[in-house]
Amino acid sequence: MGALPAGFLADSVNRISPSQTIGMATKARELKAKGRDVISLSAGEPDFDTPDNIKEAAIKALREGKTKYTDVDGIPELKAAIAAKFKRENGLDYKPSQISVGTGGKQVLYNALLCTLNPGDEVVIPAPCWVSYADIVLLGGGKPVFAPCRIEDGYRLKPEVLAKAITKKTKWFLFNAPCNPTGAAYSKAEIKALTDVLMKHPHVWVLTDDMYEHLLYDDNVFYTPAQVEPALYERTLTLNGFSKAYCMTGWRLGYAGGPEPLIKTMCKLQSQSTSNPSSITQWAGVEALNGPQDFIPKNRQAFKERRDLVVSMLNQAKGIKCPKPEGAFYVYPSCEGLIGKTSGKGTKINTDEDFVLALLEEEGVAVVHGAAFAMSPFFRISYATSTAELEDACSRIQRFCGNVR
Ligand code: PLP
Repeated sequence: MGALPAGFLADSVNRISPSQTIGMATKARELKAKGRDVISLSAGEPDFDTPDNIKEAAIKALREGKTKYTDVDGIPELKAAIAAKFKRENGLDYKPSQISVGTGGKQVLYNALLCTLNPGDEVVIPAPCWVSYADIVLLGGGKPVFAPCRIEDGYRLKPEVLAKAITKKTKWFLFNAPCNPTGAAYSKAEIKALTDVLMKHPHVWVLTDDMYEHLLYDDNVFYTPAQVEPALYERTLTLNGFSKAYCMTGWRLGYAGGPEPLIKTMCKLQSQSTSNPSSITQWAGVEALNGPQDFIPKNRQAFKERRDLVVSMLNQAKGIKCPKPEGAFYVYPSCEGLIGKTSGKGTKINTDEDFVLALLEEEGVAVVHGAAFAMSPFFRISYATSTAELEDACSRIQRFCGNVR
């Protein structure tokens, strides 16, 4: 097959790039398939299996013939469970008509942005940020505006930086804490300082991605913007999902609560694309939210121990500086100390991408370069893998860095 004819592809799709985290995970899998000894710390998914009670609920749904089309944006039972979750865990009142359920948080986010962005509309995104935000904004014809979060500030957005990023064209402020890729989380007072800025700009809506809500360590407590500043409720979309806390990445289920007219519009878009998320997955989601939650603190404890191990071992690697994050299952170390130098096998390290490619080639450790998350020179490690693999991977990183000249 030759190339596609000129002008055949849509401009919108030419504006975006493939997900670089998926790209790195694929590269690691290919090397493994060729027999190379590779440890992949690139995927953003828990290594724990989905709890049995959730699997059983799906099997029961199948046996009971719950295998037909459902309401486009979620069955009433799931919307009721989500409304109860918002009330119980976040103190937020959302009626079922204010809830949208989609095939993963990613689809819900996509629906929200595609339904609201017009050419030139700006979306303020604290950076570093999840790989998909900017591309979805670009797909919708909007303009991502990155608001930098410095390592010195624990990768938290400062209110004055948010204020500076907002213009007349800003449509959304896209907030994500605990954050992928940095793991940064905010205290109630720190969120209040940001919502105070947003209160001065009534044209700006808030899209808060609370996907890592339950993965918060030590004494940190989770707050979501509409809970901290109830006056923002009318212009906030609160996004969440099942992938991370419930270990359900492959099931594809996510949701959001927000103003009814926006939710209705998102349903219209979904009705002309995928229609409902899998009926079986939705029944599993009902059990996930209404059933026992005791595995969440157990997983959290395991992640916390892994975080401590990884942070300690990385800080012993020459040229690496790794802050200790509050949440999620990522660390975002700086590799500035290695830039401009040469690896043990002679590769010049000019960028964080050079660093991650040389690390993969020379030590068989797959991580993702900071440029993918809009802040260099850094890299992201996902520590959602076994302690033994993490120890092995961090020893290899220490060896790689020790050999850099
Ligand atoms: N938001 C963030 C910050 C994420 O890291 C991810 C997944 O990696 C998602 C949203 C999407 O999750 P899903 O589509 O699996 O629900």
